[in-house]
Amino acid sequence: MSTLLPPAPPDDPLTSFFWEAARRNELHIQRCQACGTYIHMPRPICRNCQSFDLAGERVSGRATLYSWTQTFKAFHPYFVERVPYVIATVTLVEQEGLQLMSNLVGIDQANVDEEARMGMDVEVDFQDLGDGYIVPVFKPVGVAL
Ligand SMILES: [Zn+2]
Repeated sequence: MSTLLPPAPPDDPLTSFFWEAARRNELHIQRCQACGTYIHMPRPICRNCQSFDLAGERVSGRATLYSWTQTFKAFHPYFVERVPYVIATVTLVEQEGLQLMSNLVGIDQANVDEEARMGMDVEVDFQDLGDGYIVPVFKPVGVAL
């Protein structure tokens, strides 16, 4: 097993809440404190009401599968032993159109088209990639990893 780590997100004050929450196995999404709109990816201003009063808030982690694709080519040495894997877009239940790109796990990564269905219920889980780098991933509801 390699000790090579995947490329990590940059240290960015706009997104640090997301990664800090993931380290606690919680999914937090930026939310406008003035109008309640959830926003992802995080931005400095609310696209609905132009407020600067934005903060990360914990969400349920429940979502539906919107789309997915398999990745067969390793674009970084970390992924050489991990292809194929599935990249998915999920729609969080908290707000219509609130989408997050992640990985779909808990299914056969080589046969995703047999096991995944658009609109299927998924839920967040967390994977520790090493060195405190924990990422939210999604799996079919009730599947144990
Ligand atoms: Zn707003």
